[in-house]
Amino acid sequence: MSRTVPWHSVHEPVYHNNTLCSGGRAANIAGSRDGSNGKRICSECEQLNLISSGSASTPTEFARRPA
Ligand SMILES: [Zn+2]
Repeated sequence: MSRTVPWHSVHEPVYHNNTLCSGGRAANIAGSRDGSNGKRICSECEQLNLISSGSASTPTEFARRPA
């Protein structure tokens, strides 16, 4: 499970909630705080969450499949 509770760095305008996010891991080291603090989600976390939730899962595979 890569999704977790939100955290943010005091040095960034965004929050993270995915442990696979490279920016989030850096933020976890430098000045990490719990919660979103009213910030918007980091774009990398947003993408990772879409992939892990399955909503961005290979639409081309469906298109390729014969009816
Ligand atoms: Zn992130």
